[in-house]
Amino acid sequence: MTASDVIAHPSPNFGPRRDGLLPSLIVIHYTAMADAPSALARLCSEEFEVSAHYLICKKGQVYQMVEESARAWHAGAGMWRGMADINSRSIGIELDNDGQTPFSEPQMTALETLLPGIMTRWNIAPEGLIGHSDMAPTRKADPGRKFDWARLALQGLAIWPEGTKTADQTEFATLATRFGYDMTQGEGAVLDALRQRFAPWRDGPVQDADMATLADLAARFPVEPPQNIT
Ligand SMILES: [Zn+2]
Repeated sequence: MTASDVIAHPSPNFGPRRDGLLPSLIVIHYTAMADAPSALARLCSEEFEVSAHYLICKKGQVYQMVEESARAWHAGAGMWRGMADINSRSIGIELDNDGQTPFSEPQMTALETLLPGIMTRWNIAPEGLIGHSDMAPTRKADPGRKFDWARLALQGLAIWPEGTKTADQTEFATLATRFGYDMTQGEGAVLDALRQRFAPWRDGPVQDADMATLADLAARFPVEPPQNIT
């Protein structure tokens, strides 16, 4: 994707990243709005005080509202891997989707074209790509169960669990914390966030399969002290 493929649509809703922080995460959202023009209007209105770096329409057009170096206002309160102020630590990408319908092929293709450049510019690894629901499990459910994380993982743009490990269900909080979830949000909310991303077909109480997912993620992607705190 070249810069000419991205339409600049500046939002007034941004500020400097705090404490010298640089992006180490990319947060995926859905807009939950009727269409892309409605979302663009909201994300660029001073009245609502929200924004994101990018919005991708269903037909694949990409709009940039905030420069990547600046702090957009998309994440809100929440934690991931012990880190707060996710806005200062992330690039936010909004996808025009209502949360109920599949994400369109042109939209996914545009996302897959946009991501490698961002990941290269800011040295963000595939485990740095997260959903809004990961960092705010009780408040947010986007990008939701229709979003195809496995497809991104196949291209090396996201992570996907390998179900080769087992763990006792009493280990849930320990393993979820080690992977990055904030367990003060409650086990139910964290379990739902985990399944939204890695097993949208699963429901009900914690299963051994959930524990296998968590055991693998916690082993391969354990929380480490953030490297970019000054
Ligand atoms: Zn969101």
